[in-house]
Amino acid sequence: MKRLLLSTLAMAISSAVAAATAPPPVHAPTFDKQRLSDIDKTLASDAFEGRGPATPGETKTIDYVIAQMKAAGLQPGGDLKDGQRAWTQAVPLLRTEIIGSPTLTLDLGGTAEPLVQGQQIAVRAPMDGSTSVDISKAPLVFVGYGVTAPERDWDDFKGVDLHGKIAVVLVNDPDFESGKGDFGGKAMTYYGRWTYKYEEAARRGALGLLVIHESAPASYGWATVKNSNINTMFDIVRKNPTSAHVPLEGWIQHDLAVSMFRHAGLDFDALKKQAQTRDFKPVLLKDESLSASFKVDKSVITSHNIVGRIEGSKYPDQTVIYSAHWDHLGVGQPDAKGDRIYNGAIDNATGTAALIELGNAFAHAPKPERTIVFLNVTAEEKGLLGSEYYAANPLYPLATTAGVINMDALDPHGPSRNFTISGSAKLGLLDDMIADARKFGMTYTPDSNPQAGYFFRSDHFSFAKRGVPAISFGSGDDWVDGGMAAGEAAEKAYTKDHYHQPSDQWQADWSFTGMAHDLGMLYTLGSKLANSGEWPNWSTDSEFRAARDVTADQRK
Ligand SMILES: [Zn+2]
Repeated sequence: MKRLLLSTLAMAISSAVAAATAPPPVHAPTFDKQRLSDIDKTLASDAFEGRGPATPGETKTIDYVIAQMKAAGLQPGGDLKDGQRAWTQAVPLLRTEIIGSPTLTLDLGGTAEPLVQGQQIAVRAPMDGSTSVDISKAPLVFVGYGVTAPERDWDDFKGVDLHGKIAVVLVNDPDFESGKGDFGGKAMTYYGRWTYKYEEAARRGALGLLVIHESAPASYGWATVKNSNINTMFDIVRKNPTSAHVPLEGWIQHDLAVSMFRHAGLDFDALKKQAQTRDFKPVLLKDESLSASFKVDKSVITSHNIVGRIEGSKYPDQTVIYSAHWDHLGVGQPDAKGDRIYNGAIDNATGTAALIELGNAFAHAPKPERTIVFLNVTAEEKGLLGSEYYAANPLYPLATTAGVINMDALDPHGPSRNFTISGSAKLGLLDDMIADARKFGMTYTPDSNPQAGYFFRSDHFSFAKRGVPAISFGSGDDWVDGGMAAGEAAEKAYTKDHYHQPSDQWQADWSFTGMAHDLGMLYTLGSKLANSGEWPNWSTDSEFRAARDVTADQRK
């Protein structure tokens, strides 16, 4: 997970209105900063080898977290076998890799142009179950932003048949460039994410989908596209993988797209403008085709989600979930000092420590009316896969899961006067969080960069896209001690020098007082949800509302 940089302007406003940090309200327990520090230090120690899924580091992590959950007084809440719950949920993961360099050829009106993997194009190893890809001269169709959004009266496909064809799409959503329209303006809706575009192409039976890269709407450069697409790929093992993936998924460079359009007698910029309107119709790139040929190495590895639970006293079949991922990057490329262990002390030993201590607090309080599940998921770093697997194979029904509170990469320093969440979603759970935070002397600072789509890059999203109200808490950076200058400096230093690097290590001078303070608020929020009978929902204009409302009759 990438921690968020809050904007200076928003910070200035929030610190102006923030009260001094107030003592926690009477009902919230006190969280022990020393225990948070000890747990973080253990999980981030070299002995845990960077907590790579399906490595010896996973075994160590699972044993340790289960021991902590047991000691806290939680019950096992994982896979059900012979009437007994295990402490884990097995998560089978598909691992695929292209063998050698793929042969990729663009045919432009009879002229064959070979494309170099990683340079003009970045094709992913397929996750639809294929063991080889052999595409011969498939036609290419430009489908605008590749969006079907009935609640916004928007359909880029207009009934075009994509069978046997490769769809070519723009990244982000139709109103990103104008900043005004039906897709949240600058903020990215799920329709803007490439994951959505692949899924939509699969629903339409396309042979492939290529996303045209542009740095501003993607929010990252080509290097990121290349690094995250041409290496080993992972997905959950799906019952029907072709319903989620097309055989050929990839990106092409903007300049290549412009020249492909030109060869077909089309103007890329003009068509992009048209794609920003409802009247857009798909356009065939005349006399052009793409061929692709390569073999695929495919295997299944098994990782695990760790699941602790407190059964509800009154409504055991209704669930509140706290979640955090335990995995990190494992052992990898050495840094300048020769360190190869990616300890992940902040990302996400902090969230796991928080999860254990929340479990401890609830286990020592009067029983909640609803069941509370403490879900420590795997493979977040491989693409939110542990949470995706849980949400696709829920241990407790999603329809009666009242809400999900996720924690990822928390700040181990002193307390803040503010907090944030990933993305700019509107939901009742956020209103509740804002109200609770006020009692803890904290104000809400919105994600200042919602166009980057952080909402879709943390584990709560696996639940959100299925309609479950879900939110990812983010530590603030208007520090009580040092204000936003200190908070922002620490944030920037972390992103530059430690994020996803072997140096994300436990530090003796981390006080953990901020986390201890914030956990009081997150406890209050979850406790209210577990004892109030309330069913928070998404705002009426949210793209996740419809999925929730389908199961409304199960929440009476
Ligand atoms: Zn991460």
